[in-house]
Amino acid sequence: MKKIIIAIDGPAGAGKSTVAQIVAQRLQYVYIDTGAMYRCIAWKVLQDGLTADDEAAIVDIARNISIKLMYIDGKTQVFVDKCDVTNAIRNPEVSRMVPEVAQFAVVREAMVALQRQMAEQGGVVMDGRDIGTHVLPNAEVKIFLTASIEERAQRRWRELTDKGFSVSLEELTSEIADRDKKDCEREISPLIQATDAILMDTTALSIEQAVSEILAICKER
Ligand code: C5P
Repeated sequence: MKKIIIAIDGPAGAGKSTVAQIVAQRLQYVYIDTGAMYRCIAWKVLQDGLTADDEAAIVDIARNISIKLMYIDGKTQVFVDKCDVTNAIRNPEVSRMVPEVAQFAVVREAMVALQRQMAEQGGVVMDGRDIGTHVLPNAEVKIFLTASIEERAQRRWRELTDKGFSVSLEELTSEIADRDKKDCEREISPLIQATDAILMDTTALSIEQAVSEILAICKER
């Protein structure tokens, strides 16, 4: 089968990374978590004691940061300048900071250039917010994955609790709603379904069902 590009976009907690990772594994493709890349910048901003208002310093970080996404034992591991930040970038503080840094044009340009480079050879599953609309508009398969806000908050709560973070479901629901709003309303590359993307509501779907549907769509292309 020809190696294609699969773009999976959608709001926070829709299951994009879980589903994308399995699809990539089954097809023996490379999985690229673009949210993790923006999270790395937000993590560094916090590490450096900056705030979302320090635009010049944030731009400087985006231009110089070294981000590595490695696939080890079936899981993506994330490194910033050789420091393993895989768990740290999931911290709720980082989640609150990330849409702030992701709205800057220079930050997005730097990340998009890296993402396009990573996808150059094809055989890639990339997830994010603007992959089908902006990063890889020629992707052969575009999926817009969504689910109800209640379901998405539940999933994130389980994921974070499993990782040892202590968060309330109520807090998480409002954080997700706030992040979606910022991602949808930002000026540059807002979160929006590409006109040629297939909408998939996973509220009542299991991970395996979502994976199977996407694999079936890929087979047709
Ligand atoms: O996918 P994840 O929830 O980890 O993404 C974290 C944040 O990174 C999003 O809420 C959004 O602000 C930003 N992001 C983005 N564009 C992408 C991927 C993520 O702006 N392609």
